Amino acid sequence: MFTVSFSDSQRQTLTAIVDTFVASLDVDEEAKLIENTLRVPGSSACFDREQLVRFAKTSGSSINVVDKIERKLPLILTPQQLRDLLLVINLLDYRPASILMTGHWKSFKDIPRSERELVVTKWRKSSFAVFRQIYNSLMGLSLTEAYFSHDTELYQGLHYNGIQGGYQHFKQQSDYQPIQHERLKMIADEEVAALSAVTFDVIIVGSGAGASIVAAQLAEAGFSVLVLEKGKYYHQDDMTPDDDQHAFSTMYEDGGIAPNATGTVNVLSGSTFGGGTAINYLACLEPSDDVRKQWAEKSGLSYFNSPQFQEDLSRAADRIGVSTDNIVHSGPNQKLIEGCKKLGHTVKTVPQNTSGRSHHCGKCYTGCASGIKNSTTNTWLKDAASHGAQFLDCTRVNGILIRKGKAVGVSCNVHHSQQIHKLFAKRVVVAGGALHTPSLLKRSGLSNPNIGQHLRLHLASICVGIYDQATHPSQGALLTAVCDAFENWEGTHHGFKIECFTQGLGMFSGMVPWLGAAKHKETMLRYRNAVITFAMMRDKDSKCSVQYDPYGKVDVSCDLSKHDEANLVQGIVEMARIHVAAGARQIHVSQHPIDSFEFDANEESCVDHPRFLAWIQSVQSQAAPVPSSGHQMASCRMGASPKTSATKSTGETWDVGNLYVADSSLFPTALGVNPMLTIQAIALHVSRQIVDSLCSNTKMAAKI
Ligand SMILES: Cc1cc2nc3c(=O)[nH]c(=O)nc-3n(C[C@H](O)[C@H](O)[C@H](O)COP(=O)(O)OP(=O)(O)OC[C@H]3O[C@@H](n4cnc5c(N)ncnc54)[C@H](O)[C@@H]3O)c2cc1C
Repeated sequence: MFTVSFSDSQRQTLTAIVDTFVASLDVDEEAKLIENTLRVPGSSACFDREQLVRFAKTSGSSINVVDKIERKLPLILTPQQLRDLLLVINLLDYRPASILMTGHWKSFKDIPRSERELVVTKWRKSSFAVFRQIYNSLMGLSLTEAYFSHDTELYQGLHYNGIQGGYQHFKQQSDYQPIQHERLKMIADEEVAALSAVTFDVIIVGSGAGASIVAAQLAEAGFSVLVLEKGKYYHQDDMTPDDDQHAFSTMYEDGGIAPNATGTVNVLSGSTFGGGTAINYLACLEPSDDVRKQWAEKSGLSYFNSPQFQEDLSRAADRIGVSTDNIVHSGPNQKLIEGCKKLGHTVKTVPQNTSGRSHHCGKCYTGCASGIKNSTTNTWLKDAASHGAQFLDCTRVNGILIRKGKAVGVSCNVHHSQQIHKLFAKRVVVAGGALHTPSLLKRSGLSNPNIGQHLRLHLASICVGIYDQATHPSQGALLTAVCDAFENWEGTHHGFKIECFTQGLGMFSGMVPWLGAAKHKETMLRYRNAVITFAMMRDKDSKCSVQYDPYGKVDVSCDLSKHDEANLVQGIVEMARIHVAAGARQIHVSQHPIDSFEFDANEESCVDHPRFLAWIQSVQSQAAPVPSSGHQMASCRMGASPKTSATKSTGETWDVGNLYVADSSLFPTALGVNPMLTIQAIALHVSRQIVDSLCSNTKMAAKI
């Protein structure tokens, strides 16, 4: 990995940018912040005036955010993006250029803060991608890095320790029943050399939702299996459940949520042993009948309408212990349920992969230190290991070795070394997730035009409701309720679902829209009363695809269609209505230039309130905010013809024999529900095809 070291002048400009987003407030702003905070019912018991003063005065640079950004930028940006960013930072200190970029005949760092706020707000919607990139990446990083740290005045000012839920809180509950799993064995450095001498039956790239199932099935069928994962393996005892920052920087792609190069979408995905299943929120939903029908009829894939698909879904659900037993809805999930019920919207409990055990630490996104989450490391990969599969973590596959049109192995960097290893197998399965799988196939020379195209992202808009009562967003299960009233509101089954989740302060700070430093700080002080919801759409026809650079860094391009943009906006409208029906006093949306909505102290929260209705109209009249994606799929879709798809219905690529895909890339279109269960079912299907192809002995095939 490359690093960056700022010059003094770059550091000064960056400090000015960071301190625009996380500012030391002036005396008037400070007084207003304290007054507004202390007039909220119950707040005087939570906040200490002195701490609030220090909170107001703390700037990002005073708590070392600039150093943290310096370390993190190379994780998020490609070398080219970083060069572009540094160029802009240099120009901001060069007055003739600065005037064009800021409208001020001064270096950016010498402009007063109030003016700097206006400048950065313009960058947000700039027609130049580099400014949007600066806004998105530096705004996100400044806020999250400022609020992730535990030992700062910001953290203490929020009285966060006093309201903290999390793992330590869960451990003290009477229903805390951890499961201790055996540590999976990873291949050690000294064992690596021997691997090149072996031809494995199957090498699997990735260890996530799809890969793990293939590993278990093939190993159980008696084949030799090697799993290669670029992320690191964390046993539950190595996890840091109450240190969000550490978890994001070690278990996620790009260190957590990151904007794409053009600033049109923010993307979040796991990169650790177990892939997304290690850090995901436990939601286990089956695809709707309409989606199955569409996939069978429009994509020519009869499997999806067959009893076998349902059998595979049930088998996957059984293995990962999907259940609705012992679910306790958290404060935020209860608000979602309450709002939906008041408005007559259907709302359901979301089954969890916990084998029905109580699980409410609110920290699933940092892994699962209690061992209760049935991630693939605790289920399928355990099965694979017990049948002899071998695992190599911290190992990035760079290319597929192809001879005479057939895959024969992979080339990879083992344990982050520079040395290239060649490892051989009769079958290669690529399951690096919908962003990395197409990149790896293309870099290996596959030329089917569908590879990397048709990417679907379950694009989501976010809406934050602030209530008078404490909702305790850091306590309880993350995602246990879903409103599916709008999944077909537009008539083509490409609507959206509304779900809700809890998050620690760092992530929350990035989800609250930034409408000026004082306002953002004031909203942060309402964290204990917040509910974050997202409307996750079944995206229909946006033009999204995966690109990659020579370093293997992937990026997505995402050009929103009219249909999908309308979906995002309607999602905000419906979420705002649900929040208000549940009693929210403030609504925050990231839709420029819409300000937050707030009921006056003497007004009741009411969806028919004329001011609220007028605000909803203004929401409807604006463009959608930059959406987020936690689910990526369909970038190497399965199909009946190489003209329209990247793989056959068996999962084998059209271009290269013995090369299979077995992850979310295979979805023919967007799914419309949280995808883990469907990925596992499809991976069972692909596993059967690989067993069949490897073994003509039907007795062996029957074993699976
Ligand atoms: C925060 C979060 C919460 C989520 N919550 C839910 C939920 O509650 N329910 C649900 O159904 N879904 C959820 N998801 C989505 C779900 O986890 C993913 O869709 C799913 O894990 C994708 O499975 P996959 O097999 O396609 O890839 P992944 O599970 O992402 O696994 C791919 C793995 O391959 C590795 N890899 C990639 N390239 C290479 C390479 N070249 N060499 C070696 N290794 C490589 C990656 O590091 C990664 O670990 C969530 C996702 C996120 C980010």
